[in-house]
Amino acid sequence: MRRKPEALKRALAELDAQHLRRYPGIAVDSELDFSSNDYLGLRHHPAVRTAMADCALSTVAGAGASHLISGHHAAHDALEHALAEFTGYPAALVFSTGYMANLGVLTALLERDDLLLQDRLNHASLIDAGLLARVRESHRYPHANAAAARERLQEFRQRRGEAAALLATDGVFSMDGDVAPLAELAAACHAHEAWLVVDDAHGIGVIGADGRGSLEHHGLKAADVPVLIGTFGKALGTFGAFVAGDKALLEWLLQRARTYIYTTALPPPVAAATTQALQLVTAEKWRREKLAELIGHFKDGAARRGLSLLPSDTPIQPLVIGDVQRTLAASHALRARGLRVTAIRPPTVPNGSARLRVTLSARHERPQLDMLLDALSASLEPNQPATELAS
Ligand SMILES: *Cc1c(COP(=O)(O)O)cnc(C)c1O
Repeated sequence: MRRKPEALKRALAELDAQHLRRYPGIAVDSELDFSSNDYLGLRHHPAVRTAMADCALSTVAGAGASHLISGHHAAHDALEHALAEFTGYPAALVFSTGYMANLGVLTALLERDDLLLQDRLNHASLIDAGLLARVRESHRYPHANAAAARERLQEFRQRRGEAAALLATDGVFSMDGDVAPLAELAAACHAHEAWLVVDDAHGIGVIGADGRGSLEHHGLKAADVPVLIGTFGKALGTFGAFVAGDKALLEWLLQRARTYIYTTALPPPVAAATTQALQLVTAEKWRREKLAELIGHFKDGAARRGLSLLPSDTPIQPLVIGDVQRTLAASHALRARGLRVTAIRPPTVPNGSARLRVTLSARHERPQLDMLLDALSASLEPNQPATELAS
């Protein structure tokens, strides 16, 4: 344990020495942002901002309490109905953040003797949820390997007939941009009577013809994925999260999900803005079409310049550099040109896979992508002076 401030200072100095210290850089309007998760540009949308302002002016700024005390407002109720309709589930429950939704779902569903299976590259909040759930058996299967997951489920069932199993996966992997093999995972979970929990933080609004996310993308139905989690802070451009499922599941979460029960409800204006954003996801299909066009343009341009991106068809387009110092230097070089691409380093990604995680948005234009591609090529020249690191 790091008991003393001196020990913390030493630990921080060690991070500095390894180029692993992080800083919250203030967002600057003049910069071209290729790091946000605002894939559709909805946080800039006048209708979304107006919905938030109108609700604040006509009702209240904050919820005032948790949902089960007196903090559940009409705006939350309207949003939950809109979410159920949008996702095709019987019902939805609003959580204050995606992190809390994941903690709440896994701790409410799992018991000591159950098995928890997770993709090795799942988001940190699912990994933490697994720790908090304190199951005796917890296993992370190789990334996107449905066959390995199926084998585990089968083995567990043969050995422990009575206990339940739960498999949790990101729908779209946040740092790689690839999609989970959901149809295979759903089939494996169905065959072995396991819960399937999909965290679709980067899928909702973005993939599927109507932006309904991973299920729509893979042609799955609500019945194939008993628990769907989505967040509002990414493509919907606001803040918060939801869990969709059948009524019994949501009723259980209401009784047992501590991160739902013991926290203040989302501010009603945020809920109102999110309901508006949800409408725009379907009404303004051009945003997804433009995004798809930009993704194609970016991938083509990268290939032409010899930049090897991870295989991804989503707006998350990572360029793995590997070495932490080189990745930081490239990020700083881009920053000097007014381009914001954050360096993603361990422990957010596995050791040796530091990367520039480029994210695209419907607000970008082709010439801006060309500018980024040229700057990426230049900043990754092998003889690029390392002096950029000084900043
Ligand atoms: C961002 C994210 C979360 C956390 O959502 P917040 O609402 O920001 O707390 C959870 N899961 C995934 C996959 C994410 O990308």
